Amino acid sequence: MMKLSGQKKDLSIPKTMKAWVLDGPEQLRLTEKPVPEPGPAEVLVRIGAVAICGTDVEIITKGLPAWIQGGPPFNKNFTPGHEYMGTVAKVGAGVDEYEIGDRVAVEIHAGCGRCERCRMGMYTSCLNYGLNYGDQDKGHRANGFTTDGGFAEYAVNHVNTLVHVPEEMSDEEATLIVTAGTAMYGLDVLGGLIAGESLAVTGPGPIGLMSVAVGKALGAQPVILTGTRDTRLKIGIRLGADHVINIQKEDPVEAVKRITGGKGVHYVMECSGAPNAMNEAMDMVNRGGRICLAAFPGEPALVDLAKLVRNNIYVYGIRGEGRSATHRAAALMAQKRFDAKLMHTHTFPLEEVPKAFRYFRERIEDAIKVVVKVH
Ligand SMILES: [Zn+2]
Ligand SMILES: [Zn+2]
Repeated sequence: MMKLSGQKKDLSIPKTMKAWVLDGPEQLRLTEKPVPEPGPAEVLVRIGAVAICGTDVEIITKGLPAWIQGGPPFNKNFTPGHEYMGTVAKVGAGVDEYEIGDRVAVEIHAGCGRCERCRMGMYTSCLNYGLNYGDQDKGHRANGFTTDGGFAEYAVNHVNTLVHVPEEMSDEEATLIVTAGTAMYGLDVLGGLIAGESLAVTGPGPIGLMSVAVGKALGAQPVILTGTRDTRLKIGIRLGADHVINIQKEDPVEAVKRITGGKGVHYVMECSGAPNAMNEAMDMVNRGGRICLAAFPGEPALVDLAKLVRNNIYVYGIRGEGRSATHRAAALMAQKRFDAKLMHTHTFPLEEVPKAFRYFRERIEDAIKVVVKVH
């Protein structure tokens, strides 16, 4: 791989590019598409690498949460993929924040910038979500959700969605910046973790593991991680968990009580999506504590709401990576405050996207973050 940052390179840009598009459900097809043109305040990113996320699987199988031109994303020449990084290859009108040759990672959401939520920094909850076409174009963009994403050679990004990537960080690691940004946003929404406060993370998927890493880097004490697979829990320890609990061997609520001297934790980041996760989180958190839901349960869950009320427990839901949390997470990674590389397990070339998805979905060879290397 060529390192291009720090030196201006004239990157010659072809007219067409290789891109995967979604036909019907489960039907990805490799095709040629025109290389997109960056508009005002946008840049063209020559994609270096793109990671597969659980949400990509949702999109490819069910459509939602992708929403293209006011409807499901099928048979619309739509390119999925939202966790990517690359090199700025061309800048649109008025762009002076980034130069050709800069290495960048991306946030997913460029909100419309004009609605109430965008004005609050909550651009992942933009009130004009998906309104980006025809005479409804409010300027909203969420690459890989409402606009073309990163399983391709190039993508166009608004400057607000870019984060500089340090020279010494690998392409594969840089794809994890947005995942760390989501964990950071969760902790942010919980009220901003203060050093010495306690945190339980339920579910050691990518966002759970990143919540451990970011929480620890911010000074949480203790950080407790629960899950079912010892291999994942071991990675959690290397990312900063003070205690890990295999819930098949020990009751997680009892374990959290034991570790915290019966008090419970200040915060729970719920990253498992398990049907009973919310009830357990309520029993893990202390009175007046806070729970952030960052996973999607497959079905409606039965929750003991009276317990929430009696104990003054606050519950939050997050979508994605708002309030520039990605920049703060990237700063922690640039300072090597945790080793995100531990989560990257597999790499495949662009031509092998379906195989990469298979490794991710079937967790072949304990796959966690599967990365597709494009350039
Ligand atoms: Zn994702
Ligand atoms: Zn908006």
